[in-house]
Amino acid sequence: MPDAGMVIVGGGMAGARAIVSLRANGFRGPVTLVSGETLLPYDRPPLSKAMLLEETEPQPALLLDEGMIASLSASFVRGVKAAGIDRTSRALVLEDGRALSYDKLLIATGARPRRLAIEGGELAYTLRDFADGDRLRHRLRQSTSAAIIGGGFIGLEVASSARKLGLDVTVVEAQPRILMRGVPEEIARVVHARHVEAGVTMQVGAALKAVETGGVRLADGRKVKAEIVVAGIGAAPEIALAEVSGLAVDNGIACDATLQTSDPDIYAAGDCCSFPHGLFGGKRMRLEAWRNATDQADVAAANMLGASKPYMAVPWFWSDQYDLSLQIAGNPADGPDVVKRQTGERSFVMFHRGPEGRLVGASGIGPGNSIARDVKLAEMLIGKRAAPSAEQLADPSVQLKALLKG
Ligand code: FAD
Ligand code: NAP
Repeated sequence: MPDAGMVIVGGGMAGARAIVSLRANGFRGPVTLVSGETLLPYDRPPLSKAMLLEETEPQPALLLDEGMIASLSASFVRGVKAAGIDRTSRALVLEDGRALSYDKLLIATGARPRRLAIEGGELAYTLRDFADGDRLRHRLRQSTSAAIIGGGFIGLEVASSARKLGLDVTVVEAQPRILMRGVPEEIARVVHARHVEAGVTMQVGAALKAVETGGVRLADGRKVKAEIVVAGIGAAPEIALAEVSGLAVDNGIACDATLQTSDPDIYAAGDCCSFPHGLFGGKRMRLEAWRNATDQADVAAANMLGASKPYMAVPWFWSDQYDLSLQIAGNPADGPDVVKRQTGERSFVMFHRGPEGRLVGASGIGPGNSIARDVKLAEMLIGKRAAPSAEQLADPSVQLKALLKG
């Protein structure tokens, strides 16, 4: 391998993990991580959960600290964004004019929150980084009421945290139900009911007209009074660097199954990466989930060293709201044939079967860790392309572990 080594853009989950993975794969040359943020790489999931509730000033949950970066012999360039790529000379150009040569480059630039494109939309808080979380935590503590726009993961987790802090909370969702994409209706109903039980006012199928001082105005003229407005209306892949550098994009940085971009010396991983998933017939996907960022970083790092591995990991993510944990494995949207297994008094798992009865997705909900084991086993069955019968899946006396041997 020539001397320029590996350069990684983006100091989030995927970028941080890629350094560890390059070293674990035996790479001994130079590794440089470039982050637009000034903080060391940190974890984002606590930003909408534990961090908002902390009594004392929160600290970022670091993925790598100074000592770990030193022990990995990596260079860390922070507080400066990558502005372009000179692909002919293989150099990453930073916004301060510096150029970093690379042999292979990994783009792990994540995603950024969509903004509300309505009158007053700029007044709504969004949540993506530690500074956003810190601001939101302070504002929630100074407020008695909140309007949360969007019944997706950010919106519902922030609603749960805001209720725990004692605020009056209204969730406004434009779709006829919350968690419309990727979560089956039966599970969304449980989540909805839990929010109502906790005292949240749920306004579904409600279009928004404007964010105003003292609240939001709905399209039907009603006003939702709130001292703070938070928008959780989805995220867009951060593709600016890829676009300006002439890389192919397709709902994210377009990669092949090995996470290689349209330039063979450049890879992408995490929220910014779109790729054909071999487990789901090569369907192009972009996943915005913590586990995907780590799994893709591992595969991209191996491939930057010449492995040519396809990315085949089963998608998985979780969300915590109140005492409930929701977990989804695979791609439920591909499985129109749905079977329910009641796994406990308040917990159940929905299995999603696709063509030829193959298990393609599983989604479960229940208190605490109650569904973790079953969803884990379902994830393994999905990875094995197993096709258990509807009867086996529905019957709680049939051990999922036993189906793995079939
Ligand atoms: P990111 O973590 O977004 O990191 C990208 C980094 O790149 C950022 O630091 C960004 O500033 C930097 N960057 C961007 N452009 C440039 C540039 N040009 N130059 C240099 N740096 C650049 N997932 C779950 O599965 N479960 C959860 O419960 C969960 N909770 C979440 C809660 C919140 C509030 C958020 C925001 C996300 C949550 N996620 C959760 C999703 C998960 O955190 C993301 O999927 C994961 O962080 C993606 O990692 P990434 O490295 O691809 O991107
Ligand atoms: P999301 O899960 O995509 O949810 C956004 C929700 O807002 C959708 O239900 C969307 O409906 C709705 N919406 C869009 N525009 C709206 C409008 N104008 N008015 C009202 N509702 C509107 O995105 P998110 O919750 O904002 O999360 C952003 C990012 O953080 C994602 O990357 C997500 O994965 C990550 N995150 C993940 C978790 C987790 O996995 N537990 C937790 C927090 C954050 P449509 O379907 O119609 O667009």
